[in-house]
Amino acid sequence: MKITLAHGSGGQSTKELIEKIFASSYKNPVLDMMEDSAVVPGAAEIAVTTDSFVVDPIFFKGGNIGRLAVCGTVNDLLMRGATPKYITSAFIIEEGADEKELRLIAASMAQAAREAGVLVVAGDTKVINGNGGIYINTAGVGFIEKDNWQSRNCQKEDAIIVSGSMGDHHAAILSHRMNIKNDISSDVAPLCQMVAALKEAGVEVHAMRDVTRGGLGTVLNELAEASGTGFVIEEAAIPVNPQVKAFVKLLGLDIMHMGNEGKLVAVVKAEDAERALAAIKGSKYGENAAVIGQVFDGAGVTLLTPLGGKKKVGILVGEGLPRIC
Ligand code: MG
Repeated sequence: MKITLAHGSGGQSTKELIEKIFASSYKNPVLDMMEDSAVVPGAAEIAVTTDSFVVDPIFFKGGNIGRLAVCGTVNDLLMRGATPKYITSAFIIEEGADEKELRLIAASMAQAAREAGVLVVAGDTKVINGNGGIYINTAGVGFIEKDNWQSRNCQKEDAIIVSGSMGDHHAAILSHRMNIKNDISSDVAPLCQMVAALKEAGVEVHAMRDVTRGGLGTVLNELAEASGTGFVIEEAAIPVNPQVKAFVKLLGLDIMHMGNEGKLVAVVKAEDAERALAAIKGSKYGENAAVIGQVFDGAGVTLLTPLGGKKKVGILVGEGLPRIC
């Protein structure tokens, strides 16, 4: 079945679309009430985020827009030390979209939500003229129990850890668009288990960010600027998959400005670095984690090259790769 403007009418067709695809995929007692808003138990402090997903292509190696829409929002909550609890799912669907694709996307969202331990408690569907495109907005709510990690908390001597190989999502999307055949897969993943492992290990985390659009270089610069410190990074210590490394070289890309969707940077107290690394490595999606540098007095991000040189790393300037997420 192809989606038509009638599916966005708010009438019978809309009802059927929602019941058949979305409500059945996300099924839970809160959503099943089908009220105008969800009423959920709360916490003293909550983290809130929202993100819109316009990735092109909708299906790519390693995932699709649905998995991305859950992981992106869940990860942003986790980065503040929050436990993700609830998300919303708003679809903007262009006329001509395929029902089968919508089903796959909704199923992926449901699966990622289960993995992340969040409930989809509210949603919306709009259908517009167009060419079968699908766009998703997800908002998320997480509970803050104790931690409230902030970029400005990075301190001199802190260790800088990345949770795995850089550039995978970016390289997978670009490979698809350029029709380059390789085995590069997007790393899109919810990092709940990893963050929980760090908390369980009692690691003193000062700041945490996920490495998404803009890449590692942009995230590190934002952390350094917010905390008034300087970050020094060993280029050779940054994990990169061999396939991605070859791809980056072939196309003359910069790994420091390539996006991921399942990787984080943790800035932790120096004494806790080993424990933090072990906790990340022992958790799902963290096996290739590495300590890549240290925080110093100063400003900006400096890359130490394998030949002993020093390079300043800037934030991503310009458009980068459009519609990567
Ligand atoms: Mg983020």
